[in-house]
Amino acid sequence: MTALELSRLSKRYRDRHALRDLSLTVPEGCIFGLLGRNGAGKSTTINCVLGLIAPSAGKISIFGQQRTPALFERIAYLPEGTALEGFMTGREHAHLRASAFRSFDRLRFAELVERFEIDLSRRVRSLSKGQQQALALALVFAQGADLLMLDEPASGLDPVAQRLLLELIVQAGADGRTVIFSSHQIGDIERTVERFAILKRGTLALSGDLEEVRRSKAILEATLAAPPDAVRLRERIPAPYLVEDGVIRVYTDGNAPVIRAALATLEPLDIREHEMTLEDVFFEAVGDREEILK
Ligand code: ATP
Repeated sequence: MTALELSRLSKRYRDRHALRDLSLTVPEGCIFGLLGRNGAGKSTTINCVLGLIAPSAGKISIFGQQRTPALFERIAYLPEGTALEGFMTGREHAHLRASAFRSFDRLRFAELVERFEIDLSRRVRSLSKGQQQALALALVFAQGADLLMLDEPASGLDPVAQRLLLELIVQAGADGRTVIFSSHQIGDIERTVERFAILKRGTLALSGDLEEVRRSKAILEATLAAPPDAVRLRERIPAPYLVEDGVIRVYTDGNAPVIRAALATLEPLDIREHEMTLEDVFFEAVGDREEILK
């Protein structure tokens, strides 16, 4: 079953596209990471899904259905910057959430409050930024939703709270819930997600299964015996590469055997293969290496 399907989703503000033709599928029970530089369209995507902003074009379906008010009972949302009321206490927020969502689990909330060490008697505005974020997370994870949409959930959290958040995300996935979250912290995403999408200026730069993408995009590194001849390298290596201190690093994309054979014709001292990290994949997808690569 598909938890979320976006089909050619677009959002335009006057002449500027915040999102353009975004198509994505998130299977049920999947932990899905949304990555992209500032302004890439992550929040716009989440807000379109939740009906907080109206898309200019495209289709959205959640659990195979068009969005209806009843469907929102199954979705928990953490907005960027929490959106909690400053004059209310944590306890008052919990009462409000429990009256809005039948599936809100008060025992689970109490347990999360204890783990995040939140003082529920204090007004939100007197809590630190990180404590406010932790309160918002405890409310979201206690909601009992089937789909969690978290916009920058790690924002403002200390390392202990961040680790707890990652644990909660992984546990939610193991319980069969679907978690979609955006983050600037690539390491967090890499440690938790099964699938991901990288947005670049409102369009999809890359998406897929993290393990599959990492495997298909291995980096081949060879130590060259003699200083490289730039023209010869360009002719022989049919992929983007970098040369530094007599070592050539080639970024493969499902064509590692071909590249390995091409490297061998240069008669290098050795050839090594490395899996790409998500950070490598990210930099390649958003094109920040363009200037230095062939
Ligand atoms: P960040 O990581 O900085 O939170 P993001 O990936 O979530 O960024 P969005 O907030 O989705 O990015 O913004 C995508 C683009 O849409 C940006 O260029 C932004 O300036 C533009 N945008 C967002 N809201 C509006 C608006 N109300 N009017 C005009 N442009 C907007």
